[in-house]
Amino acid sequence: MTIDQKVIEQRIEHFKQVCLNARVKLTRQRLDIFREVARSGDHPDAETVWKSVRKQAPNLSLDTVYRTLWLLNDLGLIKTLGSHHERTRFDANLSRHHHFICTSCGLTKDFYSETFNNLPVPDDLSSVGAVETLQVEAHGICSKCSALNRQHKQKPSVKEDYHE
Ligand SMILES: [Zn+2]
Ligand SMILES: [Zn+2]
Repeated sequence: MTIDQKVIEQRIEHFKQVCLNARVKLTRQRLDIFREVARSGDHPDAETVWKSVRKQAPNLSLDTVYRTLWLLNDLGLIKTLGSHHERTRFDANLSRHHHFICTSCGLTKDFYSETFNNLPVPDDLSSVGAVETLQVEAHGICSKCSALNRQHKQKPSVKEDYHE
């Protein structure tokens, strides 16, 4: 999923402003790491960010990427996804949104829904804890994976084509 160039620029502008206000030094490295999350709609984990940023900065260590991502999280510039027992993934979309998760390839895509934003919190939950936000996770098979599945099922006809 590609993010609109204008949105990326807005996110980077916001990033610079927040760093300035928090007196966090705006380094090239921090900017590169933030930009990587900001321009990706894939909710990457630290390793994915590292592999991508490393192309321009070969000396960058995975440890630095981890520390920077958690710093950005502390600054409220990105959010984390899912349970903290799993490999943490990061999200630069700070607008209220929900996730579609493909159970086949793991794709995590943002979607927006006024209806879901206004879902009532079940009363039973109050005994478990205080709810701050409600985010819906829709699980299913993404269109790319279903197209692949269809291709596999159509294999016999592909074979016939081959013999012609
Ligand atoms: Zn998929
Ligand atoms: Zn998201």
